[in-house]
Amino acid sequence: MAALHLINDTNLHQEEDLAALLSLTDPEQIEQLRQRAEAMTLQQVGHRVYFRGLLEFSNRCALNCLYCGIRRDNDAVARYTLSLEDIRHGARRVAERGWGSLVLQSGENASAANVDFICNAVRCIKEDTRSSRLPSGLGITLSAGVYSIDVYRQFFAAGAHRYLLRVETTDADLFARIHPADQTLAERVQALEDLRAAGFQVGTGVMIGLPGQTCRMLARDVLFFKEMDVDMVGMGPYQPHRDTPMAGLPIISAEERLALALRMIAVTRLVLKNVNIASTTALEALSPSGRELGISFGANVAMPNVTPGSERRKYQLYDGKPCLDEAADESGIALRQKIESLGRIVGIDEWGDSRRFCDR
Ligand code: SAH
Repeated sequence: MAALHLINDTNLHQEEDLAALLSLTDPEQIEQLRQRAEAMTLQQVGHRVYFRGLLEFSNRCALNCLYCGIRRDNDAVARYTLSLEDIRHGARRVAERGWGSLVLQSGENASAANVDFICNAVRCIKEDTRSSRLPSGLGITLSAGVYSIDVYRQFFAAGAHRYLLRVETTDADLFARIHPADQTLAERVQALEDLRAAGFQVGTGVMIGLPGQTCRMLARDVLFFKEMDVDMVGMGPYQPHRDTPMAGLPIISAEERLALALRMIAVTRLVLKNVNIASTTALEALSPSGRELGISFGANVAMPNVTPGSERRKYQLYDGKPCLDEAADESGIALRQKIESLGRIVGIDEWGDSRRFCDR
């Protein structure tokens, strides 16, 4: 019953305690963990779930992450960048649906021309989406990688106010095994600090079920989120991509990766309490009900994909990435019904900012 005592501990902060919860295998104990995380979610951030339309605006990438399907050296990928018009069109549709926020995600491209392009797109979206329903326009989250603090300031001045940058893992050895030598954990951590200094609500996260990753490492990841005092967390199961150097490495089964990712969401909710946590697409890759499971284990944000269907299949970060069928995710109706069946409601015409940020 040691686990039960931990599940009800309101001051979880010991690595071994977090690791014990992440390692749970008994279905009853896992259900207790889920219920506790769900109760914490309702108490800390309310019963609304916020949608962010996800627009994957470019798959061009200067980096060579060993796990990622759009890595620089993957020649099998046809590269694209959406036109400004397509981005504006996508953003207007998100606003029309009443989803108060948009995530602009891409590979990494630090050229001055790309920085200008992003700033301009953000300004145009803000202009286009101001209305009586949404007086400040869509909330805009960027997820476009590592830049200098000056560039982050430009993005913020243009009107973006949230930024997602996963550290992928906080274990230095594991980080080094899944990235080329010229990419470092320190650089990502510095970028998170720069983002905070530039004024952003800051989100980070990790992949779950990486080759060689342990529950101890994941426990330290959660403690890192707490120590960095992040506003948002986005995590998902690692899923191999056939055209990457990591494709053949041994990993735990899809079922175990999904279950571990759900426990990771629950533990993150119990430790970080009032942050926004996303139920990510990668959960859906492992189970058709992956995203509602994520919500029921403590997430309060979902990101329906609004990338145009013609390009969506070129943004394959991993094999089996769902929602390649445009209609499946676009309306968000199915997802909304699933969320309502959990007794939650979808926030309409609201940014749904992190309670943690607002309370700080
Ligand atoms: N270039 C941006 C964001 C694009 S990728 C950045 O680096 O922040 C967004 C996220 O997809 C990455 O942070 C990573 O966690 C995830 N991802 C990439 N490849 C993956 C894989 N094979 N399995 C699961 N998630 C993956």
